[in-house]
Amino acid sequence: MADIVLDKVTKAFPDGTLAVQEFNLEIADGEFVILVGPSGCGKSTTLNMIAGLEDISSGELRIDGQRVNDKAPRDRDIAMVFQSYALYPNMTVRENMAFPLKLAKLSREEIDRKVDEAAKVLELTALLDRKPANLSGGQRQRVAMGRAIVRSPKAFLMDEPLSNLDAKLRVQMRTVVSRLQKRLGTTTVYVTHDQTEAMTLGDRVVIMRAGAIQQVGEPQELYDHPNNLFVAGFIGSPSMNFLPATVSDGSLHTSLGDFPLGERLRSRLADVSGDLIVGIRPEHFEDASLIEDSIRQRGAEFEATADLVESMGSDKYVYFTVEGEKASAAELEELAADAGSGDLPSSGSNLVCRFSAESRVKEGDTARIWVNLDKIHLFDPSNGRNVT
Ligand code: ATP
Repeated sequence: MADIVLDKVTKAFPDGTLAVQEFNLEIADGEFVILVGPSGCGKSTTLNMIAGLEDISSGELRIDGQRVNDKAPRDRDIAMVFQSYALYPNMTVRENMAFPLKLAKLSREEIDRKVDEAAKVLELTALLDRKPANLSGGQRQRVAMGRAIVRSPKAFLMDEPLSNLDAKLRVQMRTVVSRLQKRLGTTTVYVTHDQTEAMTLGDRVVIMRAGAIQQVGEPQELYDHPNNLFVAGFIGSPSMNFLPATVSDGSLHTSLGDFPLGERLRSRLADVSGDLIVGIRPEHFEDASLIEDSIRQRGAEFEATADLVESMGSDKYVYFTVEGEKASAAELEELAADAGSGDLPSSGSNLVCRFSAESRVKEGDTARIWVNLDKIHLFDPSNGRNVT
């Protein structure tokens, strides 16, 4: 096991593409770190530099305190798991898993012992004599993981290992990966573009965009305290709603209505005036008729017409069109573009709210909606920063 340190690691491809810029991260021994971000943000390039599959243009990579920039991949004692499984089709499961141990010239007995042990952990014992063609996608991915763990490497690097699986299997395999990592306690760096995977798997999540780190933190911390518009919009499903707003006289003026600012926001916004972007997560709205009087004063209310209701069983997603909202969506796009957040998931002309299952709001109803003002985020449109 090992710690992994990336110190101002940069990758410039020969064609001039700056895929990763001054990437700084300290991954502790035994930690499970997720790299997440939209397509092309530099996740795989970062992972490949750690593996030694890509040269590092500048900066330093240290594993276990040793500079490894120029070490060949096979000398880094790291195991990689890919989306494509990369199994040998003509070998059985046992032979696939034994392969790296044969290369390492371990004795027959030792190879058998390690393969049997890994097969047990991954529930592959009954499949050891099968060929990959006769396995399901989930089983193949477990073999790929088995091949990685038999070597007891210093670290695992995983590049979208679950992407080829269907949605249900992906959820099942997520728990397999999570339990496996906890059981083995091996330092793991895991790349995904799926924010749900990122939130549920890792000890810490690194959110990347255009080759740069946007924020690093524990999943809940990123969710509750996103540093900027990009992180706020990227984490959470459905995405945070964004609306343009202005602040004056202790109130926040939005297309949903004028909301009084509480003590917390008033002190934070003492030096802020003019345009802002307000961010509200779907679950921070509620059907106003379900709000208890004891908490009603923490929020404000407004009216809107529901144009779509999706019942999830445990709760409901209710989509509203708010009057004046179309104009404000255009305004929001402009603000987001100014803030360098052009790829911000836009709220469009809809507001999505997560209501309790007890809500009786139906499509076409004009409903009173309560918004929890303790939970709103405000962003400075000039730089996208969260000012709350
Ligand atoms: P995805 O989720 O789509 O796999 P990613 O976040 O893993 O994306 P990378 O594959 O690391 O992104 O690519 C980062 C950037 O580097 C992209 O702009 C990509 O086009 C570019 N890139 C990758 N490989 C090369 C290469 N060999 N030459 C030039 N540019 C490259």
